[in-house]
Amino acid sequence: MDRDTLAAMATPPGTGGIAILRISGPAAFPVLERLFVPGSALPAADSARPPLNLRPRRLYFGHALDREGQVLDQVLAVRMPGPCSATGEDVAEIHCHGGQGIAAALLEGCLAAGARLAGPGEFTRRAFLNGRLDLTQAEAVAEIISASSREGIRLAQAKLEGLLGRKIAALRADLDGLRQTIILAVDFPEEQGEVFDRPAFAAVLARTGADIRALLDAFRRARLWREGARAVLLGRVNAGKSSLFNALLGRRRAIVSDQPGTTRDYIEETVSLEGLPVRLTDTAGLRPAEDGIEMEGISLSRRLAQEADCLLLVVDCCQGLSGEERDFLAAHEEAVSSGRVLLALNKADRTKDRPPLARHSLPEGCPAFVVSALEGEGLSELARGIRQAVQSREPDAGDLAPNMRQAGLLETALEELTALAEDAQRGLPPDILGVRLDAAVDALDEVTGGSGTEELLDRIFASFCIGK
Ligand code: GDP
Repeated sequence: MDRDTLAAMATPPGTGGIAILRISGPAAFPVLERLFVPGSALPAADSARPPLNLRPRRLYFGHALDREGQVLDQVLAVRMPGPCSATGEDVAEIHCHGGQGIAAALLEGCLAAGARLAGPGEFTRRAFLNGRLDLTQAEAVAEIISASSREGIRLAQAKLEGLLGRKIAALRADLDGLRQTIILAVDFPEEQGEVFDRPAFAAVLARTGADIRALLDAFRRARLWREGARAVLLGRVNAGKSSLFNALLGRRRAIVSDQPGTTRDYIEETVSLEGLPVRLTDTAGLRPAEDGIEMEGISLSRRLAQEADCLLLVVDCCQGLSGEERDFLAAHEEAVSSGRVLLALNKADRTKDRPPLARHSLPEGCPAFVVSALEGEGLSELARGIRQAVQSREPDAGDLAPNMRQAGLLETALEELTALAEDAQRGLPPDILGVRLDAAVDALDEVTGGSGTEELLDRIFASFCIGK
């Protein structure tokens, strides 16, 4: 493929120990030759130099020259011939001292020698176009760079190794097998009964569906490390949700008032609970709303509750559970049984001389914490409780977690396969089944970029930084 030669600093702007200039493309070595003189002897300014004879993938000490051929810096340089390089093309790197002036002069020399300044993610894009990486690996480059926790790094690393791409390829191979069966059945209608084994077809569909579901589960679990766990505060108006939200954050954020219905929309802040980022959300109260805006706030609370990793039902311990709160618990039975609903029995300071809410009146299966948002009592126990409640939703060691884009495509594939399984069970003819099968295969292909369009690539690489 006839491409131009890219150059960019691979290290961030600013000062540092070293900075790395990266060059990739057909002219990478001629450009390097113009900018680099190996050896410890200071090169004479206008001397004719013999052609560079650097062994591949070896680091050489020498001097970098600017565009006028003046010595600029002492550097290390390496040349990595394609196709076994990061981008699949000839790649050269110069490691100079980490000063902005040096980096700029070096880059200028590169451009003067015929290279072009690389756009965001362009090196990785070339690696993808040259078949060095599939799209899941290319995206993993961005993910591993932005990962801030050890767990986030581990999840991105597995993808960088190509494990997700391989998993998708295996699923696709299974679906290709089904496609072959369909083609045979269509071509030989009189032998359809023999070639089209419906139970076997259904078994493969069930297996691929289960595998995709496992990937989607891993996506949800990984969200915990990427975006933090989501804990939503719910409860009757005036139970003290906003006060508890502020107390857990350790500063004032939500408006506290004894006027019912102050938190109409919702407020979100992130706290670190024993190392896990937790996004706390304060919502409108659970009660029948009187006006439209608040009604929206309340239905929004219900939606947030569905997506939450942990629901914190804040109850005024002097008042006990209201009808709405009991209804809410009944409607979230699954969350209760999986230990995701916690009760915060608030305003414990008001019950100093009498016992708070009788334990036996509390719903079973919800860990309860006696707290006072006002005086800070019981807050660390509650924080630990939240941490524990979300623990079961953390990624497993062997998880292969797709990102948001990939998960969306996997959802599409799963929907198609589920509908396909139903159609097959209803006895629909093989040629009709082929349509859904193709749609599922297309979605899987888009995960790894097999059918990657320019527009898709633009969208993905736009979020990269220059030099990556
Ligand atoms: P929300 O409507 O559930 O968000 O409730 P707010 O946080 O706005 O609090 C409602 C009222 O209860 C305010 O007057 C708070 O000062 C008061 N309140 C909240 N938490 C406590 C607490 O732990 N103890 C006492 N005594 N009052 C509290």
